Amino acid sequence: MTRLELRRTTTGPTTSTIARTGTALQKVDTVLVKTASRCNLNCTYCYVYNLGDDGWKSQPRRMSSEVLQAVIDQVGELSHRQDQALSVVLHGGEPLLLGFEGIERLVEGLKASLREDAGLHIQTNAVLLSNKFIDLFASNDVGISISLDGTADIHDRNRVDRQGRGSYDRVTAAITRLLAHPSGNRLLTGLLAVVDPSSDPVEVYESLKTTGAPSFDFLYRDGNYAHLPFGKAQPESIEFGTWMVRLLEHYLADPSPPRIRVIDDIIRLILGGSGQKEGVGLNEFGIVVIDTDGKITRNDTLKGAYSGGDRFVSEPSIVGGRLREYLNSAEFVEYFNLQIPTSPICQTCPELGVCGGGMPAHRWSEEHGYANPTVFCADQKLLISAARSRLSAAMNGMSFYEVLDRQVSA
Ligand code: SF4
Repeated sequence: MTRLELRRTTTGPTTSTIARTGTALQKVDTVLVKTASRCNLNCTYCYVYNLGDDGWKSQPRRMSSEVLQAVIDQVGELSHRQDQALSVVLHGGEPLLLGFEGIERLVEGLKASLREDAGLHIQTNAVLLSNKFIDLFASNDVGISISLDGTADIHDRNRVDRQGRGSYDRVTAAITRLLAHPSGNRLLTGLLAVVDPSSDPVEVYESLKTTGAPSFDFLYRDGNYAHLPFGKAQPESIEFGTWMVRLLEHYLADPSPPRIRVIDDIIRLILGGSGQKEGVGLNEFGIVVIDTDGKITRNDTLKGAYSGGDRFVSEPSIVGGRLREYLNSAEFVEYFNLQIPTSPICQTCPELGVCGGGMPAHRWSEEHGYANPTVFCADQKLLISAARSRLSAAMNGMSFYEVLDRQVSA
């Protein structure tokens, strides 16, 4: 088996520093468990339903008892057999559509089968997040991440239900309910917002802050060279980068900021540390998905490249199969290797060590496959360069406020 080894240099690796060794691949950071294939919302930008792949239509609506048990047994076994901790994330569609009994069986089963240091999380739109679910998650230490895009106006523009009604009021009511729970502050790991470049990042930031959540993360809208992300006029344009730079400036000026994972990662990477997030830096992230029918699949964001882009040819299943053994198969290793940026432009880019070439799903073009810079390359260069200049000014003895003052008067 092949293991990729990326060695960092101060300016980011070049082709010659990207090496392969013969060590067995035994690393999974995250197992996404698709407990339900449908969603109670119909967000306009959703990569599952609205980017051309309709594989979800042939999936069972919910995981069966047989699949749930296979997940409990085999993911639990994997956590004990590999040498690093992993996280299990209940995902969908909307994972709570599995229903209370199924979610209860899964989280209690995983809590018992996983190694003690494993993480258990759910990514939810929160519309169905009742007190009964919150009690269950509190008893089983399930971290809750909630999708919220910002102000009511921005959120309701895209995150609508099947009747076209916005979901902001229902989502923020669920966050309030969660934070009123005795374990709410411990359980709410953060808010996940998809960037709408036509919005005002300061308004979005301040609106997310009013919820009391300790941490936010921001995702770019999915897309690639064949299907440009909504809000991006052309690959060279910088709508998302401009938005993120304004967010960065506001974040750095805030005397009581929450954590913003993507910005914190970029700053850590510039300073020579490591990122925690897929999509920046050159860390290897082992992400495996278990679909509702029990099939083991690739990262589901790859659906956005072409129909079936998230599927393995051999269609391995967790039912009756051996998850851990499959992770050492040539097919899985080939998927794992997709993370490595293969575009010559990235391989010689001075920012490769920080940017990492972006997510594979955003690199896709019909002409070169995944061997492109991310379609957000110009945006990332702008953001990284803004972060570098703030850091360099700070290192010259100026506070962030002085930096900002100087900018305003320039
Ligand atoms: S995507 Fe762009 S900024 Fe990122 S490593 Fe590649 S060339 Fe550099």
